[in-house]
Amino acid sequence: MSESFAQSAHDGKSAPTHFYSRIRFWFGLATVIALLAVAAVPTLLLLPAGSKPAPGAPPSVAITIPVSPTVAAPVAGLLAEQARRDQNAISQVLSIRANAVTAKQTDAFLQTTEQSSVDFTTKQLRLITNLNQLPLEQWDYELDGKLDGTSSLARQVRRTFGSNAQTYQVKVRYALTGFGDKPTVALRTMSFIPQGQTWKVVSDIDSGRFRQPWDENYLSVVQGPDVLMMVMGSAKPTPSLMQQASQAVAAVTTFWGSDWQRKVEIVIPASQRELGNLLRGNGADYSSLAALATAEGNGGPDDVPTNVVWVNPSGFAKINSLGRTIVLRHEILHVATGAAIPNDFPLWLEEGTAEYFGYKDSGVKQDVIAANLLQATRSGQVPTRLPTTKDFSPLNGQLDQAYEGSWWAVRYIVQTYSEQALLRVYRNALGQADPATAADRALREELGIDTAQLTAAWRASIKAAA
Ligand SMILES: [Zn+2]
Repeated sequence: MSESFAQSAHDGKSAPTHFYSRIRFWFGLATVIALLAVAAVPTLLLLPAGSKPAPGAPPSVAITIPVSPTVAAPVAGLLAEQARRDQNAISQVLSIRANAVTAKQTDAFLQTTEQSSVDFTTKQLRLITNLNQLPLEQWDYELDGKLDGTSSLARQVRRTFGSNAQTYQVKVRYALTGFGDKPTVALRTMSFIPQGQTWKVVSDIDSGRFRQPWDENYLSVVQGPDVLMMVMGSAKPTPSLMQQASQAVAAVTTFWGSDWQRKVEIVIPASQRELGNLLRGNGADYSSLAALATAEGNGGPDDVPTNVVWVNPSGFAKINSLGRTIVLRHEILHVATGAAIPNDFPLWLEEGTAEYFGYKDSGVKQDVIAANLLQATRSGQVPTRLPTTKDFSPLNGQLDQAYEGSWWAVRYIVQTYSEQALLRVYRNALGQADPATAADRALREELGIDTAQLTAAWRASIKAAA
């Protein structure tokens, strides 16, 4: 029902990451419906320190000069000059390649690759075929540090292609039309060999925190005014998914306001296994997950994180249309509020609000939404405090109650004060400098109550309903 996993960054170090999920069941008149509501995966926005050179750092060029000091300087100068020329030539090839992407010129793109390997050429053809389908306003490459002999990939490329092969970390800056004015950054590791007067790409590996869908499988891109769906391989989304997502985007804007991109990128992998592969899940079990929202940024302070809602095709197959709507509303609200970006925001407020909004106007009754919480309360186990980050651990056996208790607290604020009051509390908390006291200060400033008072009223309300 719940689980944890560790995701590896591209440098092989692993960082603990959790996702929160639950499966809920209720009995309708004629059918048993399984509904899955899922929380965002908090992900590291930036790669671990030290895993890549600082932005703008010059490529490192290892030069050994086995000659006497009197001639070392001129030789070193010549080698440095050669390294600079090589780097310029490689940058030129990347510029041609970038132009081929934005101009959707498959042949020009493939001409920048070394085509003796059928496997590599096939993958490059798949990549450009996928990119041709995307509404790319921008696609640029920037060399971001040369990998020397300490990199196993660089050594392997040299063994395969000779000692002249060069391997670089590369930043791809791309922008999808209509998804904001600033590009996002994706990381790649690329290798090049000299061929005639130019250089050719011999290896092109996606090395970001999550894998890019266009590198993994053939895509069908389905675009609406506010939803970009990337359907992978044999995935078959339900015909209504686009409409449901679009309605959820509009509903989020009505609820939250218009200060977000008001568009959402949705990736639909062909299988749960492919989802795990895209998320670099290292064999994690995603079976209780219907969808999740992530945000990834790899560049500098000006880079916009890529917000993506990932659908688990197996999880979505288990839930009905209402369940899918609730899940999409929950996840897309996380995108709008910035919850997918790693932060220490109080989770009872974050998840409670996403749950509240997910279920809002759904017709699902309190007894169903908070079944576990009410059952525990009837057994004398009334919660004593609002759910904390620890309670949302996938290892928590009472994870359901963390979501239900959070939903109850948020719903209590809406019923006692108003929905606008809830949003004021949320936005006030987002603006607080210290996440540890953010909710308490926001409650005091917006509602004139503190956390202890809210907790007492929340407990009384649950007890009264049980
Ligand atoms: Zn959530």
